Amino acid sequence: RSKANGRGTYTMFSSALIQDYKRKLQISNSILKAIENNEFHLYYQAKADVHGKLYGFEALIRWHHPEFGVLSPGEFIPMAEQSGKVVDITRWVIKRVAIEMEQIQTLAAHPLHVSLNLSAHDLRSADLFEYVNQTLYQHAINPNNIEFEVTESAYLESFDTANEYITQLSELGCSIALDDFGTGYSSLSYLTQIKVDTLKIDQQFVKEIDSSSRSRLVTSTIIDLAKSLQLTICAEGIESTVQQSYLKELGCDYYQGYLYSKPIPLRSLLAKELDFAPLFTDTNTTEINTQ
Ligand code: C2E
Ligand code: MG
Ligand code: MG
Ligand code: MG
Repeated sequence: RSKANGRGTYTMFSSALIQDYKRKLQISNSILKAIENNEFHLYYQAKADVHGKLYGFEALIRWHHPEFGVLSPGEFIPMAEQSGKVVDITRWVIKRVAIEMEQIQTLAAHPLHVSLNLSAHDLRSADLFEYVNQTLYQHAINPNNIEFEVTESAYLESFDTANEYITQLSELGCSIALDDFGTGYSSLSYLTQIKVDTLKIDQQFVKEIDSSSRSRLVTSTIIDLAKSLQLTICAEGIESTVQQSYLKELGCDYYQGYLYSKPIPLRSLLAKELDFAPLFTDTNTTEINTQ
């Protein structure tokens, strides 16, 4: 404290913390108002099948905040999860997907699938199933074209209710994917007890395919596991053709990543800003150096 600039530094540091805290509080407190004010938007990221054909999209939420600009879910979903308001966000997402699905379907002659993310809180909040059931019915959406992505940690956090809701959604005809698979530090035994259709390999492993033999090993092990349990595999975070080739060689079913498209707003999709037919061609000869 005896040094003048020491004190100055201290003041700046603490005011940055206060700013940060204020921002968090402001964001957290305005979630419900933001729903009312239509500040949330769904962005869609394309997924391709093994031939490069457009399979569908993952819906990813963005908050067009009047003061802070575009906020990513990584910033506000954890806060919404803490306060329980994520349940309101999820309902908004389900509704939005149901509304936008009709326009999305105009992009292809074959049925397109849309997946959306559930959080831990959703898996223990009453009426999730009823809400999905009613909303899909109201908008005449075929449940076969809807997929729910759940992380294994969210699932395991409240296993019994999660299992109940997931089973109901599955019986309705929706698909279930385990998101960020391989990062949850859990035993694998639960896999035989739950209704799951797809494992999504976490992007961390995909990212390291080029550089780490251990990540390649984890990736191929997850794919083998999925195949032996007759689950489909979706790889996310694909950014290079080297990663794509390696995944194709292992028999990965679905492909998602910046290599094909970033998540983009519906209006950009409808304006054909993405050339997605096909997302890649079958004749890809890039090979990984596995030495
Ligand atoms: P996630 O479900 O695992 O989604 C994948 C994230 O990876 C997305 O980030 C996506 O934009 C990003 N990504 C996709 N491909 C690539 C790639 O090639 N390279 C890189 N570097 N990143 C890629 P985003 O949109 O920021 O979402 C982050 C997380 O927020 C999601 O992870 C999901 O857990 C959560 N989230 C997003 N939307 C919702 C939502 O509507 N509800 C809930 N509950 N959670 C959501
Ligand atoms: Mg996801
Ligand atoms: Mg993921
Ligand atoms: Mg993630």
